[in-house]
Amino acid sequence: MIRKMKTFFWLIGIVALVCLVSYPIQEAKDAWTIWSSPLSGKVVVLDPGHGGPDGGAEGSDGTQEKQITLKLSRYLQDYLQEAGALVYLTRYEDEDLSSDGAGSLSRRKSEDIRNRVQYIDEKEVDFYLSIHLNAIPSGQWRGAQTFYNPNSEESENLAKFIQSEIKTNLENTTREALGLKNIYILKKVEAPGALVEAGFLSNDQERELLKSDDYQRKMAASIYQGVLRFVTEREHPSSK
Ligand SMILES: [Zn+2]
Repeated sequence: MIRKMKTFFWLIGIVALVCLVSYPIQEAKDAWTIWSSPLSGKVVVLDPGHGGPDGGAEGSDGTQEKQITLKLSRYLQDYLQEAGALVYLTRYEDEDLSSDGAGSLSRRKSEDIRNRVQYIDEKEVDFYLSIHLNAIPSGQWRGAQTFYNPNSEESENLAKFIQSEIKTNLENTTREALGLKNIYILKKVEAPGALVEAGFLSNDQERELLKSDDYQRKMAASIYQGVLRFVTEREHPSSK
């Protein structure tokens, strides 16, 4: 009996020892995960502009904005997820967010944009990013630019960090982040967010860059770096 009791206490001792040893290790592992996942716990929506019957802006070679916004968003999704964020896209395919019975293209577009806003609101995001490309009649303009709602300080900081990283990493734009009051999505979504116009399809050189996987990855990585700085630093040096 005594021998059995001894074995019993010996086993308890071993179990206690294992618990004591493994507990700090577990804690250290959690700390490591948090340290190495700077965006863990963050919920993000990426909004690839346009889709389906709405191609968005178009280059002279027929390149459509909707194709590149989705690719950029997919690369950005990868970067954000690797850093621990929970990422949703407003669309994962070549489609818009309007219903089949929406009617004319302009009716579809207004239903589409309302549904994007609703989608982002429902996800209760920490922040969102809408991705677009520009095209204007003149071919001379080029360069990415990030826009924000000037009534939101957080949005302003997010947009400024993203624009700074685009400028530094890609070295092909001198534009600054810009506050605009009347962009529907920026105005309507409650959470902080920014709209990135990643470049001009109407500029031949920039269009070729925007079509390449390599440049899409670099653009997505720059936006990601801006997000990281926003999350860790919160206030852009120019806002202080
Ligand atoms: Zn667009």
